[in-house]
Amino acid sequence: QLEETVYLEKLSVAGKMAAAIAHEIRNPLTTVRGLLQFISNDTQDEKIRNYAPLMIEEIDRTNKIITDYLMLIKPSKIEYEVVKLNQVVKDTTNLTEVLASYHAVELQYEEKGEFTIHGNSQELKQCLINLIKNAIESIEEEGFILITLQDGTKKGTVDIVIQDNGAGMTEEQLEKIGLPFYTTKSKGTGLGTMITIRLIRNMGGKVLFQSKVEEGTTVTVTLPTFKGEYDGI
Ligand code: ADP
Ligand code: MG
Repeated sequence: QLEETVYLEKLSVAGKMAAAIAHEIRNPLTTVRGLLQFISNDTQDEKIRNYAPLMIEEIDRTNKIITDYLMLIKPSKIEYEVVKLNQVVKDTTNLTEVLASYHAVELQYEEKGEFTIHGNSQELKQCLINLIKNAIESIEEEGFILITLQDGTKKGTVDIVIQDNGAGMTEEQLEKIGLPFYTTKSKGTGLGTMITIRLIRNMGGKVLFQSKVEEGTTVTVTLPTFKGEYDGI
């Protein structure tokens, strides 16, 4: 028992150190990114003009990796509040629309009712961004993503359904999804789904993946609806 206590203490020190290092790396990265953008803005130098966007992209990727790893070690927020789901899902759809159109992917949002849950809107947004990004990345050429907010199949639950017509997954891939560091992408971290599943679980919900190769993937996030004392007024 003592050994276990010592282990947990060590783990939290490691976690704190990782968070501190991530923070210390991010600051100079932000400076370099800003300077790079500044230099490349009104230059006649062809090399800089050609390579600056690539460099900025790589800096952004580094930042993304740091963010993913940070999310992994950071304990989830315990301060949950009543969240109006419609607004959160709509905001996230708007946010990811730019990325979708850049990939020639059409994004559509449908809501079938008003829903509130008990959770954290920031974490929820993060989850939805992870799932929608995966949907976008699964589409090679033109594609379509439908996001639906609707009653869950079980009473007292709500479903957020993200459906894409991308590459889909085999049975084997479906089994591995959510495992740490599982990725089929050359530039993936394999952490997004794992973090998403954990955050949704903390809010009392679950994530279901259904997929067929070359047909697409449907991800269903099911959450318990909020039944507080103010419900129904
Ligand atoms: P990453 O996006 O960094 O690869 P994720 O945890 O987000 O990590 O996803 C893990 C893997 O699951 C992806 O590399 C991909 O192979 C598969 N995957 C996830 N979502 C989808 C989807 N909508 N369609 C097809 N494959 C998917
Ligand atoms: Mg991902």
